[in-house]
Amino acid sequence: MPRELGETEEKTKRKAMRLAWAWAWAWVCGAEENPSGTQRAAPGRCPCCGGAVVATEVEKAVRLCFLPLRRHTTTKFSCSQCDRRLVSLYQ
Ligand SMILES: [Zn+2]
Repeated sequence: MPRELGETEEKTKRKAMRLAWAWAWAWVCGAEENPSGTQRAAPGRCPCCGGAVVATEVEKAVRLCFLPLRRHTTTKFSCSQCDRRLVSLYQ
């Protein structure tokens, strides 16, 4: 059955092409998020469980062809007990 075999080969080729494109796209431009590991206690309590709030510094970098376009640091708040993402109302 040469025809069926050919179709399968074509499908595999297409799949590989799509994967290569997705990879190339992610490689050429994309956004990176690196938690810098700096964690500190933040004031306030978790509204869900009353646990302590932890602030994590996250460095975000948007790049295009190795050119870093934008780099900024944001602070993410989360609960140390229930791991819920929290939003600061006082920024
Ligand atoms: Zn909580």
